[in-house]
Amino acid sequence: MKKSEVLIVGGSAAGIVAGITAKQCYKNVKVTLIRKEKQVLIPCGLPYIFGTLGSVEKDVVPDTILSKNGIDLIVDEVQSIDRNNKTVATSRGKTIGFDKLVLATGSSPIIPPIPGIDLGNVFVAKKDFDYLNTLLKTLDIARNIVIIGGGFIGVEFADEFNKRGLNVTIVELLPHCLQLVFDEEFCVRAENKLSERGITIMTNNRANKIVGDKKVKEVELSSGKKLKCDIVFLGIGVAPNTKLAKEAGLKIGEHRGIWVDEYMRTSDENIFAVGDCAEKTSLLTKKLLGARLASAATREARIAGANLFQLKRKNEGGICTFSTIIGDLGIGGAGLTEKAAKDAGFDIFIGRATTLDKHPAGLPSAAEMNVKLVFEKETKKMLGGQISGGSTTAEVTNIFAVLIQANMKVEEVVTFQMGTHPMLTASPIAYPIVTAAENAMARDRVS
Ligand SMILES: Cc1cc2nc3c(=O)[nH]c(=O)nc-3n(C[C@H](O)[C@H](O)[C@H](O)COP(=O)(O)OP(=O)(O)OC[C@H]3O[C@@H](n4cnc5c(N)ncnc54)[C@H](O)[C@@H]3O)c2cc1C
Repeated sequence: MKKSEVLIVGGSAAGIVAGITAKQCYKNVKVTLIRKEKQVLIPCGLPYIFGTLGSVEKDVVPDTILSKNGIDLIVDEVQSIDRNNKTVATSRGKTIGFDKLVLATGSSPIIPPIPGIDLGNVFVAKKDFDYLNTLLKTLDIARNIVIIGGGFIGVEFADEFNKRGLNVTIVELLPHCLQLVFDEEFCVRAENKLSERGITIMTNNRANKIVGDKKVKEVELSSGKKLKCDIVFLGIGVAPNTKLAKEAGLKIGEHRGIWVDEYMRTSDENIFAVGDCAEKTSLLTKKLLGARLASAATREARIAGANLFQLKRKNEGGICTFSTIIGDLGIGGAGLTEKAAKDAGFDIFIGRATTLDKHPAGLPSAAEMNVKLVFEKETKKMLGGQISGGSTTAEVTNIFAVLIQANMKVEEVVTFQMGTHPMLTASPIAYPIVTAAENAMARDRVS
């Protein structure tokens, strides 16, 4: 029987970073990563395969990231975990022992029970090289695509399919696309950009049935409308992969992820869980957090990897931090939206700012930037930030996350120390985070 002191199941964002962190914190420990697939894809890059990148090969994570960090790789599937003997059994008949096991088994796309879902040319965002190659080839003979789900996965795929010259329609159940992560005004900006780019949006609509003969031909909506199509793409979310953990008797949380404590330990203290397969708690509400993101997965992996043999890092809770781009419109958010904060029971005040992301205005590619900040009335602490703008959107979103994590109050946000440059940032005179915080203070004073 082979043995590795640290055994990691899963070779994507969470598994790789758990392995690297384990090696950094415990230099002489043998770390082995076992994963199902021969080649791992950059999960967040999947949509860009179909437009900007143009091939699946260009979205592969090189295995040198493992070898250069001294991590052994096994390509095989773990079938079961024997907690008493501290071993796993694989589908190729191997038994591998461990002192510490890290589950980084990720998530899989949700496939809803819509009639016709099994027809040919119905696709999902599956992190699988050959599957995505098939989708790529099918796109060459398609004209019309219906995307079911207007969350970030649906929207990103829509924009990339559109870049290939295909007719794309998004069907969304809620009144707006991206509504679960942004306040209405940001959703509307995103929808306007999608429409401007030629993508049809059908909100307040449920896909009731997929119709076809072996392959899809049309989608029937709750409104009665029928949309002709050659491909249906489902982007309605992911579910954590917990089969292994469940069968090993590990505790499963209310959101169907593997239950973990603040050190990322499961209900068995020799087994850790990180990434999309693990349950998440919000730093701000202390309630369960539904979002599953690569950034959160790697953060959890940095905590678990450090804690394997000695508890060194604590997970105080996640701040959902996320950005995306539609054409040239960046859109991002961290923490709670105005709606989410109110729904969670916070008494809040908000501030807004509109400016340019470069200065002076005459610079080429200067884009309008809209920022909205949410603060708690009682403590004055920042709870959330949203932005739409140009190419700096994602890094401004990351600043929001830092301000929230640092428990900054509105007065501190107003005087936070930023650096600016004409070609790279907004003007120091109208720096949007500071201006929005000033605006929030002014509105709070009069309310
Ligand atoms: C289209 C799309 C776009 C996204 N964009 C973003 C973005 O812009 N920013 C962001 O932060 N997040 C984004 N995400 C979310 C992000 O992809 C996930 O949060 C991330 O992939 C989670 O990483 P993970 O390692 O936990 O799981 P996964 O990426 O799901 O990987 C799980 C790994 O476990 C392996 N595995 C599972 N079971 C076994 C087993 N029994 N034996 C061996 N191996 C096993 C799998 O083969 C795989 O290697 C996006 C997701 C999608 C689908």
